[in-house]
Amino acid sequence: MESNVRVRFAPSPTGPLHIGGVRTALYNYLFAKKNKGTFILRIEDTDQTRYVANAEQYITDALNWCAIPFDEGPNLKGNFGPYRQSERKELYKKYADILLQKGWAYYAFDTADALDAERKKHESEGKTFIYNWHNREKERLVNSLVLSDDDVQNRINSGDKFVIRFKSPQDETLILEDEIRGTIKIDTNTLDDKILFKSDGMPTYHLANIVDDHLMQISHVIRGEEWLPSLPLHTLLYKAFEWETPKFAHLPLILKPVGKGKLSKRDGDKLGFPVFPLEYTNEKTNDVSRGYKEDGYFADAFINMLAFLGWNPGTEQELFSLEDLIQEFDLKRVSKSGAKFSPDKAKWFQQQYMQQKSDEELTDLYLPILKEKGITKEKDFVLKVVSSIKERAVFVADFWELSSFFFATPTAYDAKASKKNWKETTPDLMRELIDVIESIEDFSSTNTEKIIKEWITGKEIGFGKVMQPLRLSLVGKLAGPHLFDIIAMIGKKETMQRIQNAIKNL
Ligand code: GLU
Repeated sequence: MESNVRVRFAPSPTGPLHIGGVRTALYNYLFAKKNKGTFILRIEDTDQTRYVANAEQYITDALNWCAIPFDEGPNLKGNFGPYRQSERKELYKKYADILLQKGWAYYAFDTADALDAERKKHESEGKTFIYNWHNREKERLVNSLVLSDDDVQNRINSGDKFVIRFKSPQDETLILEDEIRGTIKIDTNTLDDKILFKSDGMPTYHLANIVDDHLMQISHVIRGEEWLPSLPLHTLLYKAFEWETPKFAHLPLILKPVGKGKLSKRDGDKLGFPVFPLEYTNEKTNDVSRGYKEDGYFADAFINMLAFLGWNPGTEQELFSLEDLIQEFDLKRVSKSGAKFSPDKAKWFQQQYMQQKSDEELTDLYLPILKEKGITKEKDFVLKVVSSIKERAVFVADFWELSSFFFATPTAYDAKASKKNWKETTPDLMRELIDVIESIEDFSSTNTEKIIKEWITGKEIGFGKVMQPLRLSLVGKLAGPHLFDIIAMIGKKETMQRIQNAIKNL
């Protein structure tokens, strides 16, 4: 049965979604699913000056890649739509009017120049100008608190530009509740009379956000810490409308790996990691920003990493599937303080998930890469390759580097390793070895190992004298999985051929 828990992720489509935004979406999703509630995507596109056309698509693509789908949202059925604020435009003026009628809001006709002059005047007297009870009824400001009703009406009728401001109360102490931060007290005298409705006929974020949260029956507002300063106004707006206030939870910031402050795109550029889930091309500048997906991260590893940026389960366990996260997630375990982003930890999660994936799944990811290189080996062979190299891989893109020798004869040999291990006596030894190999009937890994090692022991020489040159011949460098597994995989003929090549080239 569905519960009354309804949460929303409410991004503004102003560019690619930062991982902080994805984390907000994730926590909303986890909270909704844990409580058998509904997760809503609402596009807050009332600020037309910052609107970016491909940003909404980016947001939905990112949520889809992360596998945290919304239950209601643009282009989906839902009883509370439309889910784009620009499509709800007509609605907001009515609510601004309600506040005007109730005396919680007023018209203001001040021009930008006049306000600027007021600011400068205050500055020259060593004061800060705030548009609120201090001065809203002083004659220099032009608003419906000082003008007569007729004057106000005439100005509106004759097309004068106006905004609608919220009338913040004087001398009150607001008691705000936050699910993560507890009780916060605010003196209303410090609040300015924020604009609710702009002169372009659009609501500001504050008005649209509160109206929509109310109409969409949002039970919990879970959002980034940067919105905490708006909480007093939002709480007052609920009071003014006489609506039930949802619960609020402000999530901690994601911080730079080094130094202070919020993680930015610049940190990623400087230290070489993405801060966006998907690659993003800026349509104006053609600037391309890296994405976790394109960098080769698995979505589940990325999500697990993100979940831990600000939350922990209270145990040592770090690896959680999305299902586990839903079970364990609790706002009470979200920290108040910022979470330092660690690119190394991100890689660590990726590596852990690489090890958890089945050989079958990884093989399906590797086959197209091989195909592109013109290699068409049967799946069983590739499956064995993957199983032998995966513990050394972090990304699927590492596979080729770790396994090319299974598919192709080395064309170059590591110079340093060759110098150290390919001695004057080596070619003769290798020729003998070719004869030994030729005589082996059962070419399994264990049998070739047994026979070759017996031969070395019989010759009373160190294993390294044979094994290192043999590895160089087969792999081209002193790396790779168990040598006899490689031998068994590439087969007798290819093994002998590669030793011949090394004798010729080294
Ligand atoms: N549109 C705001 C943003 O871009 C939403 C803030 C909120 O969740 O209330 O983050």
